Amino acid sequence: MTTTSAVSAARIFDGTRWHDDSALLISDGRIDGIVAIDDAAGASRRVDYDDQWIVPGFVDLQVNGGGGIRFGDETSADAIHTIAAAHARFGTTKLLPTLITDTAEVTARALDGGREARAKGIPGFLGLHLEGPHLSLERKGAHNPSFIRPMSEADLAAICEYRRESGFVLTTIAPENVTIEQVAMLAKEGVVVSIGHSNATAATVATYFDAGATMVTHLFNAMSQLGNREPGIVGAALDDGRVHAGLIADGIHVDPMTIKVALRAKRSPGQIFLVTDAMQTIGTSLEGFELNGRAIHRSAGSLRLEDGTLAGADIDMLASIRFMHAVVGLPLETAISLASSAPAKAVGADGYLGHLRPSYVADFVVLSPELDHVDTWIDGRNFAHPR
Ligand SMILES: [Zn+2]
Repeated sequence: MTTTSAVSAARIFDGTRWHDDSALLISDGRIDGIVAIDDAAGASRRVDYDDQWIVPGFVDLQVNGGGGIRFGDETSADAIHTIAAAHARFGTTKLLPTLITDTAEVTARALDGGREARAKGIPGFLGLHLEGPHLSLERKGAHNPSFIRPMSEADLAAICEYRRESGFVLTTIAPENVTIEQVAMLAKEGVVVSIGHSNATAATVATYFDAGATMVTHLFNAMSQLGNREPGIVGAALDDGRVHAGLIADGIHVDPMTIKVALRAKRSPGQIFLVTDAMQTIGTSLEGFELNGRAIHRSAGSLRLEDGTLAGADIDMLASIRFMHAVVGLPLETAISLASSAPAKAVGADGYLGHLRPSYVADFVVLSPELDHVDTWIDGRNFAHPR
């Protein structure tokens, strides 16, 4: 075994437990193991983070943009690289560039961008998330209603073809515009199907879970709520152990008390995991931008249309973890897991992402004990940041 790097720190959290005064051994972009610092002397390269902490890299399954670029306005591998680099500065080591509802032409360009990013091996690129355009008009949120439409056979074929030839893809759909048979076909092809932007009843959505949908997109936001006589998508997702659910933890999209109740209520093994739903403001000082020709204003941690509708989030993953720890009151280890092992599990990548274990991808974040970002490593390489 040729170990090329030993990266040491005061504490290493492997996703399950802490290792004090230890070193992470890495070769060929994968983790060999975690050993006591004294046992890492034979490594050909040594990096020591002294008093800092190492934790698993964050996996973000819903990222609309970053570094001033929204995926959709630009779709090239270079654009994806800019977005991934912006989020890497906040600890994200794998993400899904997410295209919100758009025209068939832009959707096709987004699929091409995913193909190019994969071919070029863009660091941090895991696959694509198509959020729409097959959503519910009633629960459109900031999605442009003129682009919302039923899923056609051609739409279905394009997603399945991407999955077969070009890798991982997740799609958010609403039962209002996608049939059970189409969901069954997507699931059979290995596309991860998430229910969102929908007003479906719990009974309806249960039939979509039976057909192979395994996820719910930004739990509570843009969906039928948990009511006394109608449990809605929220109730169905919490009660069904097969289902995972993304959650935006910015304190604006969902109240901290509601988050606490949902975490206690979620039936396992399905889990709630964090997404940022971040827009292109992350890593920039932008005060606003245009979304499909409509003005979006950035103010006090939120992004809104003129009418006040939330349009994505203005939060990074590290800030989401701090929020879950400091405001919602979760143990730090749990908050980190909701951003690493939980999303990895939600997309079936928990055999190689989300933990720092032998044979896992060497994706990790270096944090100060105050939870400030220090450094990010992706695929065993130090991902230099400009700060
Ligand atoms: Zn959404």
